[in-house]
Amino acid sequence: MTADNAACWKCRQQIDAADNYCRHCGAGQRDKINFYYQQWGVWLLFFVIGPFNLWFLFKSPVISKKWKIIDGIIFGILSIWFCWSFYSAVKNIFGVYSTFLNMPY
Ligand SMILES: [Zn+2]
Repeated sequence: MTADNAACWKCRQQIDAADNYCRHCGAGQRDKINFYYQQWGVWLLFFVIGPFNLWFLFKSPVISKKWKIIDGIIFGILSIWFCWSFYSAVKNIFGVYSTFLNMPY
């Protein structure tokens, strides 16, 4: 009986296809891959750490190149949009403050 061979996504060493964890570096395989490398995990991270999630997106062994580009663009647009709305919100608050501060006594 021949063992079904596969390569670890992290260290590229040969492991058994049935292995849940790499026997060389200990990285989880398939559904044991850390959540932050999954598509939904990268999205979850975006709402926690913002555009820093791109690091995990591009390092992910399970997300295809096509989706990395699509997700990367979406995260980029969302980040710019978020920064812009934060900026205008801050500007609005200061605008309200300054009208109070500039009130004649
Ligand atoms: Zn490995």
